[in-house]
Parts: sequence; structure tokens; C-alpha cells
Amino acid sequence: MRITDIEGIMLRLPEVRPIGDGCQSVLLLRVHTDAGITGIGEVHSNPLVNKAVLDAPLCSVSAEGMRSLLVGEDPRDIGRLWDKMYRHSQTYGRRGVAMHVMSGIDIALWDILGKVAGLPLYRLLGGARRKSHRAYASDLSQPSLEATVALARKHRDAGYRAMKFGWGELGSDVRDDVRRVAAIREAVGDELDIMLDMGFPVPLDDAIYLGRALAEHRVYFLEEPLSPDDVGGFAKLVAASPTPIATGEKETSLHGFVDLMDRGELRIVQPDVARVGGISEAMRIAAHCESRNVRMIPHCWSTDILVAATLHVVSTLRDCPYLEYNVTDNPLRTELLVAPIRPRDGILHVPEGPGLGIELDEDTIARYRWDG
Ligand SMILES: [Mg+2]
Repeated sequence: MRITDIEGIMLRLPEVRPIGDGCQSVLLLRVHTDAGITGIGEVHSNPLVNKAVLDAPLCSVSAEGMRSLLVGEDPRDIGRLWDKMYRHSQTYGRRGVAMHVMSGIDIALWDILGKVAGLPLYRLLGGARRKSHRAYASDLSQPSLEATVALARKHRDAGYRAMKFGWGELGSDVRDDVRRVAAIREAVGDELDIMLDMGFPVPLDDAIYLGRALAEHRVYFLEEPLSPDDVGGFAKLVAASPTPIATGEKETSLHGFVDLMDRGELRIVQPDVARVGGISEAMRIAAHCESRNVRMIPHCWSTDILVAATLHVVSTLRDCPYLEYNVTDNPLRTELLVAPIRPRDGILHVPEGPGLGIELDEDTIARYRWDG
């Protein structure tokens, strides 16, 4: 069985706004084989930049594009092909955008393997410990407090047991951020979990203030209050904050996550399967998390391709209390699959079809296809 081509399809909303929504444009991957089986993957980054990593011709033995590395290879040799991509992109790769593209390809290779075996992906990853998962409603903080509180009530009424608000104006006035959380807590009651996602860093002293002040409102975690590169700052913050600290959506590779856990003292990490190095690297990170008794609660804010891939990964974990679920209105999120993945009463189920267990909606692809 051989890979015949890797097709990179850029999808983009007609209007892309400067908001914290990375699902406004995506790179969809289709890995084609001579057996007639096609693997589906997604890269969650910047599609035009990603496509260059996919399409680039040989430059040197350590700087080659991904397609030319993989065409002609057996797609079932996932570990070997992961190493080949990593080794032959080391000059420009290892972290960041090259790892993002490797992630999408890795997801598609696992989809192929599952389809060859006729088994849902979670079976190939060791089997599901749980097939249903609590989703937390993940939403954007709104400019007005009233609008954010209205969304909180809506998510509670839809059956979610946890919700997160992030980005927007958060971080410009940390005392105002605490007031927002207090209002959300008052609106939804004591039984639900609330998370806060800063999106961009605040000064360490402000982050420590937030960590202490938010504990009064029982915030489940405070996400990304510091720069992704400020690993030493995270160690100080974790030591000072009674509110658990979470980060990792902008990090890539096992090495980055080992650093966050061992030097940054993080107890909750959030790898994104479509950025971090794919399903393969997410599983390796999960093993390291488990050995340190650290929780992995993946970042999952994109299309249903990522939701499916993440569900297969978290189904195999011993402990994953929540799965992030993007609740914003966006056709790339809601219309990309023939059978969209939707929570009921805040619960998501891992797909049972072969591979990822998903089928793309070709009309949606045609509608949002973008040539750059
Ligand atoms: Mg986030």
C-alpha cells in the first residue's frame, strides 16, 4: 500500500475577523493511497503557511517539504513516517508550523490505518476506557458583561456542566476580569465548573492576583495567563496560585510539554492534536503526563475533524475530566461533516466508524474552498 498524493485544501470564511477564533480558516488534508483509501486530517494553524510546508520541494536533506517525503511510502508505517518528517525538516521544523503540518498528516495516517483495519481509531490506540465524555462549552468573552452572562446562561440551559470564556478584552483590567467571573458564577450557580482563558499574557504579578482572586469563585483553571515561552514564570505562578493553571495550546512536541511540566510545574496541560505533532505525539505526551500525575485536557477549538481525533485520544486516557468544545457559530465547525459531532446534555461520544469515523461534506468544502 502506497501514498499517491497529499491534498491540502484551504477553507476560509468569507469574512475573517481579528478575534480569538482559529477556526475561521483551516487546512484540510486528504492523504490518498493506491488502495483507494483516503485519510482525513486537519492542520490548526495558518493554512497558507501550512500549505507551503506541505508543498515545498527538496531543499536539503534536513529541509524538505512533507509531500515529497511521503509520496510512495506505506501509510501504515506511522511511527517511521513521523520520524522521517521530523528528521528531514529539522532545519526549518521541529516546532511551530512544521509540527502543525506533521500533525494533520499524522491524523490522516491514523485514519487510513483504522480504515484498513475496519476499526475505530481508539481500538488501535489501546482501546477506550470511556466512550462518553463531558464537554465544556468553550466560548469567547464578549465586550459587555451582560452579553457574556447571557451566553453563560444559554450554555447552562443547553446542559453543559462546565464552560469557559476567553480572549476578547480579558487581561486589560484584571479586577474587571474577576468581576466578570463573579457575575458568571452568580448567574450559573455553584454546581458548574467555570474556566477563564486569558489568550494573551498579563504581567506575572497580575497573573498571581488573578490566581488568588479567582479561587474565591472556584475557577476550575486559569488558562494562558503568561507567555507560552515564560516557563519560569509559570513555575512561580503555579506555586503562588490556589487556582489551577493550564496552558499548552500554542506549544508543540513532547519536548515542549516535558518542559512545561518539569520546569514550569504545570499540573494541567492542553496539547492541540492538530498542532502538537498529531495523534502520535499527543499519545506520547499523555504517557508523560500520566507518569507525573499531570492532567491532559486537550485544546480543541476547530472543526469536527479535530473533535473526532481528540475524542479518540481522550477515550484512551485514564483521567481526562473534560473535552473542550467550541460553541461559537461557524459553518466550518458545524457543517464540515455529513454527520456533525454534537453533544447532548453536554456529553460527546467517540465515533464508532472505521478510523476517525467521519465523512466530509463535499458541499461545505466547495462552498468555503480558498485558493489563497
Ligand atoms: Mg485557549
